[in-house]
Amino acid sequence: MRNNMDQDILKVLYTEEEIHQRVEQMGKELFEQFQGRDPLFVGVLNGCFMFMADLVRASGLKSELEFIGLSSYRDATKSSGVVQITRDMQRDITGRELIIVEDILDSGNTLAFLSKYLMAKGAKSITIATLLDKPSRRQKAITADYVGFVVPDEFVVGYGLDYAQVYRNLPYIGVLKPSVYTK
Ligand code: 5GP
Ligand code: MG
Repeated sequence: MRNNMDQDILKVLYTEEEIHQRVEQMGKELFEQFQGRDPLFVGVLNGCFMFMADLVRASGLKSELEFIGLSSYRDATKSSGVVQITRDMQRDITGRELIIVEDILDSGNTLAFLSKYLMAKGAKSITIATLLDKPSRRQKAITADYVGFVVPDEFVVGYGLDYAQVYRNLPYIGVLKPSVYTK
């Protein structure tokens, strides 16, 4: 499909079709684990928006959805390590089984912070579903329960992931040309 972003992409890592197949599988696995229970999906904004939309549909689970806005990145490709809540959840999560939906698990700072925050708010359990995992860069002892793809140590964009708030609407996941963020 026509767009004016392809020109900034060095290479495609996962096509739209590959992402679709993988998310369908993850949804099935979540259904197997959570059918008959009452999970609450918690999407981490903004990066989760596309993955969340596809994953909750693929899961087929009768469940509520929530969103929390977190930010650890400024307009750089490196994490600051400091996580801020930019938008809090709107409902009580006491005693709830949560499924966190995240775009990418990198240093682990974001999910370490979020897990602690949600447990302190009274969550009963936390299951982490991340589309991408970059284990080579981990600083915190965090592992995801569901991982879409393990990615190499490169800065990726698309399917929800941004650079300076742009490229989130690319239907595939790709590596940005370094010239885009060094200029
Ligand atoms: P962490 O706190 O685990 O270092 O990073 C989590 C957040 O950093 C992700 O939710 C994502 O917003 C951002 N992030 C980490 N690696 C990448 C990347 O390769 N590309 C993009 N666009 N964002 C990333
Ligand atoms: Mg994110």
